[in-house]
Amino acid sequence: MNDDETLIARADAALMPTYGRQPVVFARGEGVYLYDRDGRAYIDCVGGVSMINVGHAHPKVAAAVAEQAATLINSSNLFYTEPQVRLAEWIRDNSIGGKVFFCNSGAEANEGALKLARRHGGPERTEVVAITEGFHGRTYGALSLTGQPSKQEPFRPLVPGVTHVDRNDYEALDAAITSRTCAVILETIQGECGVWPLEREFIARARELTSARGALLIFDEIQTGLSRTGPLFSFQDLGIVPDVMTIAKSLGGGVPIGAVVASPAFQDTFRPGDHGSTFAGGALACAAGVAACEILEDPALQADVRANGDRLKAGLQTLVDQGYVTDIRGRGLMVGIDLVSEGSATAVVARLLGAGVLVNNTSDRTLRFLPPLVITAEQIAAVVDAVVDAVVNR
Ligand SMILES: *Cc1c(COP(=O)(O)O)cnc(C)c1O
Repeated sequence: MNDDETLIARADAALMPTYGRQPVVFARGEGVYLYDRDGRAYIDCVGGVSMINVGHAHPKVAAAVAEQAATLINSSNLFYTEPQVRLAEWIRDNSIGGKVFFCNSGAEANEGALKLARRHGGPERTEVVAITEGFHGRTYGALSLTGQPSKQEPFRPLVPGVTHVDRNDYEALDAAITSRTCAVILETIQGECGVWPLEREFIARARELTSARGALLIFDEIQTGLSRTGPLFSFQDLGIVPDVMTIAKSLGGGVPIGAVVASPAFQDTFRPGDHGSTFAGGALACAAGVAACEILEDPALQADVRANGDRLKAGLQTLVDQGYVTDIRGRGLMVGIDLVSEGSATAVVARLLGAGVLVNNTSDRTLRFLPPLVITAEQIAAVVDAVVDAVVNR
């Protein structure tokens, strides 16, 4: 066994087998590249599943983390720190204008949003509507919202009162939102099931129906947010504003942090003692967050995201023209493609790993691209060449 095989064997013996991992060990990252222990570079189109939008080891994030770590890492939520206030103000001022609750992950952000919705609804409104195939996380509340039977079945019974409606099924949506509904939660583009944008009209209908019937509209922007699709948050392109939004993933530039933000009308729904978390909003994570957000709010970077997303889709179009790919979906640098044949995605991912390009497959025929947003046009061209090669020259 070489060194990597030995480490992978140790990992298998020491870590619970919850993940399907690609057989590579990373030692270092820089920008769009990850490097293995032999110094071989890989273009990272997994991007930490949209967790590393700023790119690996961004100097501004690294400096903010190092400085904050040497100053104050965390002091609990029984006191005030400046990084926490600065990040909350940034989120408020750049999203839906209200107050923020910090947590440590995406699942926790959706747990927080769910509790906020239940607090808003009170004893009469305890039901939530979510979308089939949506993904909201793995903890019990978040898993109950996640409309994927394979993830839910082994863990039933779940949190009661969740109804799932198929994406873009207007009648089912209308029927599901009742006087007992406290919230509708959706991703504007469903990520984990293979990059499926909801129709703008469908999201607009959810907005109308929730407003008319007294339920909250929650957008889970954990994957779509922080300039991934072009704008800072994907709702800003749609012109449809939610009451509550959840963010995580790229918020900390790779450091764990999540947040729930509510619009001004609902920002005081939680009362003292209603919710909390020991680590949440710590000075270290928030300093990383402020640095990451200042990088990601740059209009020039956002213009690049749109242009490079279009380049990626245009480049991959040749696979559609040649009959190897049936569909290309997504906005900005959140792109999914469906291969013609079922079962081929894992083999393509393995060939791409060999070619030095990291991609992940969300099913046995769908590949998803979520590269760091600092990727260049030249690197996009290299990715396109590698993908075309891996799909065509099998
Ligand atoms: C990743 C993801 C989550 C869960 O985030 P974790 O930090 O893994 O708990 C929730 N919603 C969406 C849309 C996601 O992409």
